[in-house]
Amino acid sequence: MISQAVKEALQRFVPAENILYKEPLAKHTTFRVGGEADCLVQISDTAQLPQLLKYLSLVEIPFFIIGNGSNLLAGDAGFAGVIVQIADKCNNIRVAGNRIYAQAGAYLSKVAKTACEHGLTGLEFAAGIPGTVGGGVVMNAGAYDGEMKLVVEEVTVLDKEGNQLVLNNSTMEFGYRTSAIKNQPFIVTECCFLLQEGDKEAIAAKMADFQGRRKEKQPLEYPSAGSTFKRPEGHFAGKLIMDAGLAGYSIGGAQVSAKHCGFVINTGEATAADIRQLITYVQEEVYRQFSVRLEPEVIFLGDF
Ligand SMILES: Cc1cc2nc3c(=O)[nH]c(=O)nc-3n(C[C@H](O)[C@H](O)[C@H](O)COP(=O)(O)OP(=O)(O)OC[C@H]3O[C@@H](n4cnc5c(N)ncnc54)[C@H](O)[C@@H]3O)c2cc1C
Repeated sequence: MISQAVKEALQRFVPAENILYKEPLAKHTTFRVGGEADCLVQISDTAQLPQLLKYLSLVEIPFFIIGNGSNLLAGDAGFAGVIVQIADKCNNIRVAGNRIYAQAGAYLSKVAKTACEHGLTGLEFAAGIPGTVGGGVVMNAGAYDGEMKLVVEEVTVLDKEGNQLVLNNSTMEFGYRTSAIKNQPFIVTECCFLLQEGDKEAIAAKMADFQGRRKEKQPLEYPSAGSTFKRPEGHFAGKLIMDAGLAGYSIGGAQVSAKHCGFVINTGEATAADIRQLITYVQEEVYRQFSVRLEPEVIFLGDF
């Protein structure tokens, strides 16, 4: 519950039209599930963040940062606290020579397109990843032998008290679908990508090729959060799940995609509980049959 006093305070930091109460998280996650957040604040200028973060810390209201919600499973009971969304209202992209400076809310697809338009190569892999720069940096998003680690020069972040820090590539400690800030309360506000000069047509062709491969292999016609599980060492999650006989296996409205077993999809009426149960079932079944532990790549948010 957000008190009247807190509501009034929030309006001092963020325009009233960007503060939503009892907001369904299903509207802000690509799985299209999730109950109500007490409050969802849409950041339209990174300058709003320091004061807001300081205030939320001071009054001890739990908060969680989201970008495009494309790697999240939000619980049916929603989130008791404030969701701070840094997405398309905060999406400035600037090019300077071989560098692209992108605000945290810019879509990776848009940054990749900008790179292509300027004849800069390195970000082709990101064209089909439906996340923001902030989410991509935190997750070290990657595909087709590319990853954020290879193109990020510096990341500007705020700590919980609103202080600004600039982290370089090595301080970011990028790893497989992780970074130094995945489990730390840092908020990404901007990222500087360092790219190489390339041929515009070749860059566009590579992006189109990657997009085509995604369309062919992934169940993009259903809501999901992409690959549900991380790749276990020496294996592929999708193959293990298929070999376990789970292609098309459903719990409620959640289903192991028959097109790509590494994806759990929402066939229309799934609840977060259905999806979570199916994830657990797949983990147990794969472990029972192959003694391999699958770790979710998807992040669980809120109350289930
Ligand atoms: C169809 C589909 C295909 C996908 N393909 C790929 C793929 O090929 N490769 C891949 O790596 N991923 C893929 N994903 C997963 C997802 O798109 C990426 O992980 C993406 O980087 C998440 O970005 P987001 O903005 O949606 O982050 P969210 O899902 O909103 O958040 C993810 C994490 O980042 C944190 N976060 C977000 N923004 C910030 C910020 N500004 N500051 C601090 N923390 C922040 C959140 O707190 C959370 O912990 C796919 C997803 C879908 C639905």
